[in-house]
Amino acid sequence: MVIKLETIPVTEWKGYSKRPFLISGPCSAETEEQVMETARQLAKIEQVSLFRAGIWKPRTRPDSFEGIGTPALKWLRNVKEETGLLVGCEVANERHVYETLKYGIDMLWIGARTSVNPFTVQEIANALNGVDVMVMIKNPINPDIDLWIGAIERIARAGIKRIGAIHRGFSSYEKTSYRNQPNWQLPIELRRKMPDIPIICDPSHIAGARQYLHEISQKALDLNFDGLMLESHIQPEKALSDSAQQITPGELHELLSRLILRNPSTSDPKLLDILGELRQQIDVFDDHLIDLIERRMEVAEKIGHYKKENNITILQSARWDEIVKRAMTKGLSKGLSREMIDSIFKAIHQESINKQMKIMNNGIDINIADKNI
Ligand code: PEP
Ligand code: MN
Repeated sequence: MVIKLETIPVTEWKGYSKRPFLISGPCSAETEEQVMETARQLAKIEQVSLFRAGIWKPRTRPDSFEGIGTPALKWLRNVKEETGLLVGCEVANERHVYETLKYGIDMLWIGARTSVNPFTVQEIANALNGVDVMVMIKNPINPDIDLWIGAIERIARAGIKRIGAIHRGFSSYEKTSYRNQPNWQLPIELRRKMPDIPIICDPSHIAGARQYLHEISQKALDLNFDGLMLESHIQPEKALSDSAQQITPGELHELLSRLILRNPSTSDPKLLDILGELRQQIDVFDDHLIDLIERRMEVAEKIGHYKKENNITILQSARWDEIVKRAMTKGLSKGLSREMIDSIFKAIHQESINKQMKIMNNGIDINIADKNI
């Protein structure tokens, strides 16, 4: 189901220069000099539209630097006056909203540790009711698309029209090279369900380390994200938060120059012709796939009747292991990924089991949701 929202496209936002909408600035505002100097250097980079800096910092452990708080809002206002950049910071409660609005902050974002909490998001939405300001909602730290959508809906219902989503990755227990898992399928799903919402990728918080920023940024552009949020600092190694993932404005400039911006679509008739033909081929293959699955299900149903007549359980683990092993060996030899083979075969097996359950239960639908069967 597609959720329609009354929004203003990001390309019409005041201060938008060109795709991608680029947000940069330090993780935290630390001193007036650090804020002003970072902003001055960023303002010289043509692509940068908006200066970010955390004022109130949600930290995992106590005793970490928790931000300068309200006094730093003046610095952001000075950045706006001196450089002409739009300015933005994180808000995590209604008091933050009132303070930032007093200082004319252009963009407020709701952080990942706040978008998980519907009470707080609603409190922020109530404080924003009827105000014209840009608001971006980061994904919640856990990979729950409905929670993300719900937070966006709450803010949209407060009448915010310049609204966007920020994809900053998801926490996981396993330690991997990235700090947060991108789970790209979630922002893609968000785009499908809420096509009116611009999506900004935040490679800094996905990466956690500066060496991955370029590859994540490029991936986001290739997936047609609307913008990027990249943390920058005049002296990253001295940063009081997120030091390992910040880069200097000079390094940002260099990173941007290496990004390839592909066209989201084309109007060239020759290219459209070629694309059209290839898409027809894809449609034909998709039809084949559906027909094949239908035929496979017919066989599964026959087996279901046979199991019922002979009083045999539906689930035969050894047989299932054999199916997956066979498909995996064949799929891998054809260059298909382990993840895709695994998820397709799990889904097909699930459907076969549901069909057989129905037969066993004389036509009553019993869908087993447990994908591990
Ligand atoms: C940040 O942008 O500095 C921040 C705290 O982000 P997140 O909410 O994504 O952790
Ligand atoms: Mn940060």
